[in-house]
Amino acid sequence: MIDAKTGAEPRSARRAEPRLTVVSGPSGVGKSSVLAEVRRLAPEIYFSVSATTRPPRAGEIDGVHYHFVEEAEFERMIASGEMLEYARYAGNLYGTPRKPVEDALAAGRPALLEIEVQGARQVRRAMPEAQLVMLVPPSWEVLVSRLNGRGTEDPEVVERRLAAAREELAAQSEFDATVVNEDVQVAARELLRLILGQDR
Ligand code: 5GP
Repeated sequence: MIDAKTGAEPRSARRAEPRLTVVSGPSGVGKSSVLAEVRRLAPEIYFSVSATTRPPRAGEIDGVHYHFVEEAEFERMIASGEMLEYARYAGNLYGTPRKPVEDALAAGRPALLEIEVQGARQVRRAMPEAQLVMLVPPSWEVLVSRLNGRGTEDPEVVERRLAAAREELAAQSEFDATVVNEDVQVAARELLRLILGQDR
């Protein structure tokens, strides 16, 4: 179907270009588990590695989970135009280095960014062809219990993340698609179909 106003084909009809997919979702929704499964199912997808000023959590490796940088280095990257987008979230800076994403797309690989909503909005402006997907919990109660059960964060951080989660979920209508993470396998396959452009 063609959009009467814009004359554009719906996103699902466009297949030729590898696409950039942005996945957002509140802290505690299970993004890491779902994305780990997507990565296992489709190693051809390029997963962007963000830069952040947040200190590493136990088990996180510099250059793999994030590029852990000082605030001054982050500011330098912004000033030199190296960031495709960036945002401050729960007191720390997070941003997507532009070049690896552009290189992956140019090489024909679908690319995936896992970022928060302010960043997703910036990507939408910079690359209107990007597809925005929000991963949501089956219910608010599930999200609260997952965040409390994680045990890696102190209560104040959990509170801040819940406040941010409420705001993120309110932005759902700005996204092209929503995937409910009730079951990791099901959510991963649904997301994979969207990333690879096999949404029907
Ligand atoms: P965490 O500290 O739990 O790893 O991430 C906190 C939030 O920052 C998550 O919502 C995550 O999606 C987001 N995030 C991670 N990398 C980026 C990035 O490069 N840009 C933006 N805007 N958000 C990011």
